[in-house]
Amino acid sequence: MTESVFYVKADAIYCQQTVLKNHLMLIVEGCIAGFTENPKEGVPIHDYGDAAIIPGLIDLHIHGREGCDVIDCKMSSIETISCSLAQHGVTGFLATTVTTDWQQTLDAMAIIGQAYTQQPSGAQVLGGYSEGLFFSEKHKGAHNQDYFLELSQDHLEAMINAANGCLKVVALAPEKPGANALIKYLTEQDIRVMLGHCDANYEQTQSALEHGACGGVHVFNGMRGIHHRDPGCAGAVLMNDNAMVEVIADGVHLHPTILQLIYKLKGPQKIALISDCINAGGLIDGQYKLGKMDVFVSEGVAKTASGSLAGSTLTLENAVKNMHELGCIDLREALNMASIVPARFLDMADKVGSLESGKQANFAILKRDFTIQATYIKGRQCFLSDRK
Ligand SMILES: [Zn+2]
Repeated sequence: MTESVFYVKADAIYCQQTVLKNHLMLIVEGCIAGFTENPKEGVPIHDYGDAAIIPGLIDLHIHGREGCDVIDCKMSSIETISCSLAQHGVTGFLATTVTTDWQQTLDAMAIIGQAYTQQPSGAQVLGGYSEGLFFSEKHKGAHNQDYFLELSQDHLEAMINAANGCLKVVALAPEKPGANALIKYLTEQDIRVMLGHCDANYEQTQSALEHGACGGVHVFNGMRGIHHRDPGCAGAVLMNDNAMVEVIADGVHLHPTILQLIYKLKGPQKIALISDCINAGGLIDGQYKLGKMDVFVSEGVAKTASGSLAGSTLTLENAVKNMHELGCIDLREALNMASIVPARFLDMADKVGSLESGKQANFAILKRDFTIQATYIKGRQCFLSDRK
């Protein structure tokens, strides 16, 4: 049981614009109530020594962890994923589906809708993310093309209804017939469209962005790359200033120089670090399933039988670490890419996404070895590491 009024103390506090030293953060009734160098007497202090207080991380694109997958269509799976994420400093996530048969997709949407209302005990379900079904074979990655569907308003409406209003993102291939009209339709329903697993060229992608699409799904992975005579989908989402790109910073999906290239083109505001983690996350190497596909995990890298990368086993604090160390990006900015940037994308930045007075007290304690010591959601400690 966490107190309703307490201070949190550590060596540094990573706010959105600045890093506070020698300060304490005051929590009152689940919200951040301010920062001070002089704590009032009698108020308990959670002292984390030389660690850092960081904003609760938000994972926009995650399929599963610890043997559980969103498309298990079970509340118990969402609960496992939620608690596992809290151990990695994540306080909110979009429950993400993968290509599977139509009925299972609708069942998964229904469970996400239920989890959004009831909420699991760890990281909060901020909504659903449909990754699947409306893709192109050429860059299908770990999505089974046998289940690909025609992009139609009927299909989209059925998913929206099944998710009971909590579907936040639909990923699709913009070269699919009718894509632009349906991007407009989804945008009008307050659903963000992300472009990926596609063979769209520069012009097709640019046109989709002009019709309201928000950016690129795990940029460079599962899309037409940059060629000097065809800038492709990757070139379009990187060059369009309004487009946001998801980045899998696991050191495998993207070369460190590409992380730097993405940063040079997009800056700190338009990159969202995602895990794209699958059910093998947090487990040992071996054979797993991603949707209807067999996936083989070796040294933490997940691949299909044909050798295509199949999601990841990445955690978001490691994505931040890699962006900082491999991408040579300031730690505060790398943290923002996994907190305020996704919060803005979801139009939730007034409530979550940074350590600021008045916002929900969603934060984590990051130790110097880059592991998470504790995680708090709305001021409630929902994870405390027993590691020294
Ligand atoms: Zn994908």
